[in-house]
Amino acid sequence: MRSLPCILCIGGLDPSGGAGIQADIETVSALGGRALTLVTALTAQDSHDISTVKPVSADFFSAQLELLIRDIRPDAIKIGLLGSPDLVPVVRDLLQNFRGPVVLDPVLAAGGGFDLDTRHLGRVMCEQLVPLTRLITPNRAEARRLGNHEDTDQAVHRLIRAGADAILLTGADEAAGDQVINRLFEGDAPERAFSWPRLPHSYHGSGCTLASACAARLALGDRLAEAVETAQRFTLDALRRADRPGEGQWLPRRWP
Ligand code: PLP
Repeated sequence: MRSLPCILCIGGLDPSGGAGIQADIETVSALGGRALTLVTALTAQDSHDISTVKPVSADFFSAQLELLIRDIRPDAIKIGLLGSPDLVPVVRDLLQNFRGPVVLDPVLAAGGGFDLDTRHLGRVMCEQLVPLTRLITPNRAEARRLGNHEDTDQAVHRLIRAGADAILLTGADEAAGDQVINRLFEGDAPERAFSWPRLPHSYHGSGCTLASACAARLALGDRLAEAVETAQRFTLDALRRADRPGEGQWLPRRWP
């Protein structure tokens, strides 16, 4: 029997299960892939917000990675929370030797407000990782941080100039009104906008779900625009099924 497409998910462990590696595993599995997981950081958090991030050492992260990819070749790579700039060169070296699609979700702040942009992580990611990605999936605030510009559109153009092949700019974090507009920028192609109904709650892990779904669909062979559209629909469905096990944000349900 043919093996499932493997998506290497690099991210943090969120004990609430809403975001991070658990979101990646659930999303990739639901879409018919196999998640390989490299944990960048343990976190203390609940459904309200993060309180502490404990990154793993670059040496141990690198040792895990080397052992894994000597044995299993991923079909796509998804990068989420890195937690420390020390891990960036290890990830950069991985991407330089990887031919498949790479999706970067630049996790620089939690939805609850906790700042994850420690020690210029955003700047280092922009310099070292952005040029090696197929797709970046920032929300508006993350785009401005990663692109280091206070105007969102200018920041997006900076990211394209920095070498991003494509950017899916999500709009749920700021826009008002009853629609959420996500915008896809890809090379010289005209910008494409996707409009979705705004759901009533605040959700934890929607960005992780979206980026993992893009990576899974790309690994399954979709073209970029197709992957991005299917991934948004998958995320919306998971948010529609969300529940609220704690007293903070709602958690997506990524399985039927
Ligand atoms: N914790 C981890 C480990 C994450 O990867 C993320 C987002 O990617 C978050 C927390 C924050 O998730 P959210 O912004 O959806 O609240």
